Amino acid sequence: MHNHLRVISGMRPTGRLHIGHYHGVIKNWVNLQYEHECYFMAADLHALISDYENTKNMEDDIYEMVIDWLACGVDPSQAIIFIQSHVPEHTQLYALLSMITPLSWLERVPSYKEHLENAVSKETDTYGCLGYPLLQSADILLYNANIIPVGEDQVAHVELTREVARRFNHIYGRELGFEDKARETIKKLGSKKSELYQDLLIRYQQNGDDEALIKARFLLTDAINLSLGEKERLFAFLENKSKVILTEPQALVSDTPKIVGIDGQKMSKSFNNTIVLREDIDSISKKIRAMPTDPARIRRDDPGDPAKCPVWQLHQIYSSPDTKQWVQNGCVSAGIGCLECKAPVIESIYAEQTGFIENAKQYKDDLNLIKNILADGAEKAAEVASETIAEVKQVMNIDY
Ligand code: SF4
Repeated sequence: MHNHLRVISGMRPTGRLHIGHYHGVIKNWVNLQYEHECYFMAADLHALISDYENTKNMEDDIYEMVIDWLACGVDPSQAIIFIQSHVPEHTQLYALLSMITPLSWLERVPSYKEHLENAVSKETDTYGCLGYPLLQSADILLYNANIIPVGEDQVAHVELTREVARRFNHIYGRELGFEDKARETIKKLGSKKSELYQDLLIRYQQNGDDEALIKARFLLTDAINLSLGEKERLFAFLENKSKVILTEPQALVSDTPKIVGIDGQKMSKSFNNTIVLREDIDSISKKIRAMPTDPARIRRDDPGDPAKCPVWQLHQIYSSPDTKQWVQNGCVSAGIGCLECKAPVIESIYAEQTGFIENAKQYKDDLNLIKNILADGAEKAAEVASETIAEVKQVMNIDY
């Protein structure tokens, strides 16, 4: 049973997912889908930002990625799974938000600054690179999502999204001529009550007097010569509020375990050091057996220190407390050899991947299953997205 909170998250289809994606992101999605209304998106437009010249495999990459999600336990009966570009409202909202977003907000996003420092050529410094955090904002605000599961490096993007939502609500959340209309409405309270309302308003807005706020609310609730809409207007005026059209989301920073790659660095496609999801046993075994260990263990009887060994980091993810104790004791006393120590890791990864391979089989055999899930997801996502766009266009007065 879902609560009323909405979650959106996505991944770029830029090649095979690896066990780092599973432990860092997908496992978290699987848990979230049972608690919240979840939208999981194949972010193909975001993939274009870095790979716009290399789109040949995009479609296959999307299907493979979604097969991985499903194989790992993401469930289309719990979560809405779709392709970003299949819901055109993403680009529509992106364009509309770009009109109100100051350039300086995008230029100060840390990932853009980093990109500029590392950009190899002018061709990689595109408008898309500057604007992609705003596209992310559109992805989030389109669904009025409340919770955004992110790693530390993405927190700045959620903060930008909150600022954009606030700015949008501030500009368009008030009816045209709101202040003049409010002042006219105050007069309708009658001279005594309007004087009292204005006095309470000043006490609350200038001095933060909460008692004045409560009294003013009572005064409005009891005002028989105001319509409901007029009361709403004066409630909003009192608290200096605008109508919320786009919801400010919260970042949910996950305690993401950093998965070590087979060379001891962080696991990443760009370092070519991954174990991909659904990798076969021979390949897993070969890779783990060749992994570097504590350099102090040159010979079998040299004692080692797990803290200095990347294999130990895999044990942290994959091994039981008993196995970890066995590693600790065996390593520092040279009671076990490194190949012996690696065996339980190979077994655990293999057991995990065997389950994924089995789960993926039905989708690999019939790609239409995936296409139908994605079409169904896009339809459901579009229902929510089109409502948001309709309201955004209405308040921007472009709904002719
Ligand atoms: S025994 Fe295990 S933890 Fe110790 S150095 Fe070898 S592989 Fe690493």
